[in-house]
Amino acid sequence: VNLQTDYGIPIQNNVPLCRFSTLQIGGPAAYFAEPGTREAFLPLMAFQKHDNLPVLIIGRGSNILFSDEGFSGLVISLRKFELDRIQFSPDGSVKVSAGMSLFRLSALCQEQGMSGLEFVCHIPGTVGGACAMNAGFGRAASPYREIKDVLRSVTILDLLNSKLRVVTRDEIKFEYRKSSLDKEIVLDATFQLTPSTREQVRDEVKANFTYRNSVQDLRYPSAGSVFKNPKKPAESAGKLIDRAGLRGTRIGGAMISEKHGNFILNVGNAKAVDVLQLIDLAKSRVFEQFGVELEPEVKLMVPGLSSPCTV
Ligand SMILES: Cc1cc2nc3c(=O)[nH]c(=O)nc-3n(C[C@H](O)[C@H](O)[C@H](O)COP(=O)(O)OP(=O)(O)OC[C@H]3O[C@@H](n4cnc5c(N)ncnc54)[C@H](O)[C@@H]3O)c2cc1C
Repeated sequence: VNLQTDYGIPIQNNVPLCRFSTLQIGGPAAYFAEPGTREAFLPLMAFQKHDNLPVLIIGRGSNILFSDEGFSGLVISLRKFELDRIQFSPDGSVKVSAGMSLFRLSALCQEQGMSGLEFVCHIPGTVGGACAMNAGFGRAASPYREIKDVLRSVTILDLLNSKLRVVTRDEIKFEYRKSSLDKEIVLDATFQLTPSTREQVRDEVKANFTYRNSVQDLRYPSAGSVFKNPKKPAESAGKLIDRAGLRGTRIGGAMISEKHGNFILNVGNAKAVDVLQLIDLAKSRVFEQFGVELEPEVKLMVPGLSSPCTV
């Protein structure tokens, strides 16, 4: 099948995935597409079905470790998907494309003086990725919030019949940094906001950025926190990794941050295997010393492991 001629879709071969990951790591995708519209999206699914290819949906790749071998199927990036789709309604909701960046969404909410999404203002992902991951954030003076607290519904593409379906929040299973949406293709999301003022929203956004800058290590490419925080009463994953003496540990081009034990940085041409070795090291040291099993938050697209984000 020739997608370009048979379906009229620009599709690329052998696209390096390191360009689409905030860690800047990853080998080539056999097929890669960035549909801008639903019309361009649907035929991609026809192509996928025809060749029975595994599909991976990505947003900004800010929570994924791609393998050094790449991905042998079709990667669909939503980075450019329906970027002008945003609709504020009089009932206080906002409906946005899954491809919209969280930075932009929170800026637009601020402009409207609508509150509710300030907690995602600094997260470098898309709306779709945030829904799939149930992204969350909190700081001492402001309670921890997750996507599930503000999400009303999403529109998904049902792969069985290529039809669109609206799924309400109650139908979605949410856990800490996990949702049943990571097996779906989210095309848009509707959030419930509350009326506020531009100034109040701006102040909350500023405070979140200030706190984020003080705790996270943003000097080098990363995928944010690598591990989920274990259930209480254990300490945070970052603290446990610090206490295991692993801050600053380097393997190849990857290093556990000296500032934040839960960040692994690409300090120079890191390979996925370097990051995976650091992950294994942190897991085993923390288990030996504290009996706590750390679970990765970052999606590991590595052969041999299950591929949690393929649909
Ligand atoms: C510096 C830094 C700071 C961070 N801080 C935070 C933080 O404070 N809180 C937090 O929760 N996270 C944080 N993250 C992690 C990350 O930004 C979030 O998980 C984000 O929501 C991922 O969005 P994305 O678009 O990049 O998703 P991707 O990384 O591209 O994908 C993540 C998962 O979502 C799935 N997915 C993506 N788009 C869709 C879609 N449209 N439909 C269905 N599934 C989809 C993918 O298949 C994959 O399983 C941080 C990351 C970095 C690099």
